[in-house]
Amino acid sequence: TAKRGGRNRHFTFDPALIEQLEDRRAMESDLRRAVMREDFAVVYQPVMDTASGECTGAEALVRWNCSDRGDVPPSKFIPMAEELGLITRIGSQVLRRACIDAASWPDKVAVSVNVSPVQLMDPRLPQTVTQALEESGITPARLELEITETALLGNDEEALQMLKQISGMGVRISLDDFGTGYSSLSYLHRFPIDRIKIDRSFVAQLPDDPGSASIVRAIAQLGVSLDMRITAEGIETAAQHDFITKHGCSNMQGYLFSHPVPHTQICALFDSKAPRNAAA
Ligand code: C2E
Ligand code: MG
Ligand code: MG
Ligand code: MG
Repeated sequence: TAKRGGRNRHFTFDPALIEQLEDRRAMESDLRRAVMREDFAVVYQPVMDTASGECTGAEALVRWNCSDRGDVPPSKFIPMAEELGLITRIGSQVLRRACIDAASWPDKVAVSVNVSPVQLMDPRLPQTVTQALEESGITPARLELEITETALLGNDEEALQMLKQISGMGVRISLDDFGTGYSSLSYLHRFPIDRIKIDRSFVAQLPDDPGSASIVRAIAQLGVSLDMRITAEGIETAAQHDFITKHGCSNMQGYLFSHPVPHTQICALFDSKAPRNAAA
């Protein structure tokens, strides 16, 4: 807190605040170093096909294990990377890794990669995607990019053109965390969206909460009428699984099937039907 006192104005700082600022600066420099050294790992969470019970996809999720800090969750370092302009580099490292890993998976298994709204403002994104595909040799149809509604707000004309270009290459686009942002249904037909992922905050309240149940049913219906695939995220219980199966979501993801796992472990899940409670 700063006190202002006329000519003799002086400042008194809260030591806790200074410490916070110093911590933040230290973490920023650790993050910069991690980006330079490509110090990130990618883990994969299986995506199940509701009808067949098979694993037909996997979502790539970035992990930062910092030597001094241990595991730093994405919710902490992704926003920082976005602010510092580092997310584009992290994003392309994750994309390249994910495509290379997916090249050793069965053809029926797609890989999805999260794309930050900041990356959608970078005109080099289509080229980054092309390079990752060429380098790995996977077909474009096996790659999905997960974007959020926030990315479509604001500068939407440029984002729209870029997404059309990427979608034109055959890469799928999904709308992640659906229902939590400034959902405008007009996005769904203006943008080339192939899939909606129902945010896990709705799934978490199934099957008992009538509001969440109605929302999930409505989104599933929307998927049918707009010819989009629907993934329910964050399935943790058998009751949630049953609800989703009954209400026509094409895909499911959640701890009930598997936590995100390293590449070496995910390959085992491709053969088994509906793996449940696989190790974290
Ligand atoms: P998201 O894309 O919605 O990813 C799903 C998150 O939910 C993951 O957290 C996953 O571990 C977690 N999750 C999956 N199943 C369950 C479940 O049954 N219950 C609960 N409680 N959680 C579940 P994670 O890995 O911590 O990632 C958090 C967010 O960070 C992601 O949300 C995504 O927005 C962002 N993120 C992760 N990796 C990347 C990346 O490579 N690039 C970008 N731009 N963002 C990323
Ligand atoms: Mg996602
Ligand atoms: Mg999500
Ligand atoms: Mg989420």
